[in-house]
Amino acid sequence: MNLLDNHVYTTFSRDGKDSMETVIKKAIDIGTRHLTFTDHMEYNTDKFSIDFEKYCKTIEEFQWKYKNYINIYTGIEVGYQKYLKDEINKIINKYPFDFVLCSTHTVDKVNVPNPMFFQGYSKEEAYRKYFSSILETVCEFKNFDVYGHLDYIVRYGNYENNKVIYNDYKDVLDVLLKTIIESGKGIELNTSGIRYNLEAMHPNKTILQRYNELGGEIITVGSDSHQANDLCKNFYEAYDMLEFLNYRYVCIFKERVPVYINIERSRQGIVA
Ligand SMILES: [Zn+2]
Repeated sequence: MNLLDNHVYTTFSRDGKDSMETVIKKAIDIGTRHLTFTDHMEYNTDKFSIDFEKYCKTIEEFQWKYKNYINIYTGIEVGYQKYLKDEINKIINKYPFDFVLCSTHTVDKVNVPNPMFFQGYSKEEAYRKYFSSILETVCEFKNFDVYGHLDYIVRYGNYENNKVIYNDYKDVLDVLLKTIIESGKGIELNTSGIRYNLEAMHPNKTILQRYNELGGEIITVGSDSHQANDLCKNFYEAYDMLEFLNYRYVCIFKERVPVYINIERSRQGIVA
């Protein structure tokens, strides 16, 4: 099986536990064919949390050093915030990224993991606030390739049942998925939900199914790993689910262009 992990952190991010080289060696060990780093481009009080120059240069060095063993790509996870749009665009256009994963971790300057985000709102209101913010983002910001963990909010709600029932949010989710598809962008299947004991990946199966029904084809698979041991975790289940939902391809990105990789061929270990 050729594994392709498109959502991976290193010590270039504050919350990354292992160095880039440790992650690469582990990836090679477990049979990863394509590895895309997506360290955090997150704004913390007064600056972005990463040295972009050094990050891109280091990846380039390792691309060469390990070129006979693994394909390594330069990605970034942008924690999008509306008021930072110009700044974000400037940085994305300045560096040679292969892949821009856009995610919503903060809405109106409140971090979603912060209980404040939910205070004073019903579950439905809080979830709608989250999805509407993503919808607003995909309407006004196009400088990304794939949207990360669309239902990330289920990690942080403190309800008896945190699950997103598609029909409860169909109006906003349908427009959101259609906008992503019409913009030529994709979504991510993020396997970390299993590690967080959420019983589902992000987004859940019904959202994935609807994306497919609406004609969505671009999908990347990512572990969201902050340590080498979590690389490609639960990927076999992810591929099983995608095939069950009639997806035949997963994507990687080179120079911001999707490359479609046949899941079946990938299972057989055929090098794409
Ligand atoms: Zn994220």
